[in-house]
Amino acid sequence: MLALLALLCLLPPVTLAAEDFAAERRRMADQIGTMAAQTAFETARPRFDSRVMDALAKVPRHRFVPANQMSHAYENRPLPIGYGQTISQPYIVALMTDLANPQPGQKVLEIGTGSGYQAAILAELAGWVYTIEIVEPLAKQAEERLKALDYRNVEVQAGDGYYGWAAHAPFDAIIVTAAASHVPPPLVKQLKPGGRMVIPVGTPFLTQNLMLVEKAADGSVSSRQILPVRFVPLTGGH
Ligand code: SAH
Repeated sequence: MLALLALLCLLPPVTLAAEDFAAERRRMADQIGTMAAQTAFETARPRFDSRVMDALAKVPRHRFVPANQMSHAYENRPLPIGYGQTISQPYIVALMTDLANPQPGQKVLEIGTGSGYQAAILAELAGWVYTIEIVEPLAKQAEERLKALDYRNVEVQAGDGYYGWAAHAPFDAIIVTAAASHVPPPLVKQLKPGGRMVIPVGTPFLTQNLMLVEKAADGSVSSRQILPVRFVPLTGGH
């Protein structure tokens, strides 16, 4: 009996290792590469940065979805994560990350932590990631998940991201993963000269456009539309 118990204790790590889904993740990354080529006429990015692609092939998306969604974790589509929210489509995560272009040592702000998946991708590429989530239980779950996966360069805060995170500003890049009716002025203010913000702007649940907002070295701000997208709305008191 004791021997059997000892054997059972040994089983879980072995099972987990076998279910790392590395091949599925590789396939997902390949699909994203194909989709990048197909959408290049709109995005002007036929290929995403190899560091971004490596991060997508590395971060275990199945650890960021509810247990009943795990078998779908490597399909290139959004999935429900509870509280009426979703984990974004992997292709969109890749596109937004590529546009934000996070580099080692840089500081990145994310609005809309959700599952924490996008934050983990950013954490693979940047020096430090600050992420804000308005639904408190989601913020808490994401924080615990990122800690369990040993991401030490991510800080999660529960709150309204519309106002940014002034204590850690300015940021080299800002990614907003919920659709806003306009670009929040506090976020523009917290962007470093030379910095980039990627944000879906438009009507909730209807037409939205992924925008790239750039602040030049002299502080002037320009923006351009990248692709029509559909995100959950940015909520809060603004
Ligand atoms: N980046 C997430 C996807 C998030 S979906 C991921 O990788 O899983 C968008 C998230 O934005 C939702 O969790 C929603 O609760 C959150 N959100 C909406 N309005 C917000 C606001 N004003 N401030 C912070 N988070 C907000």
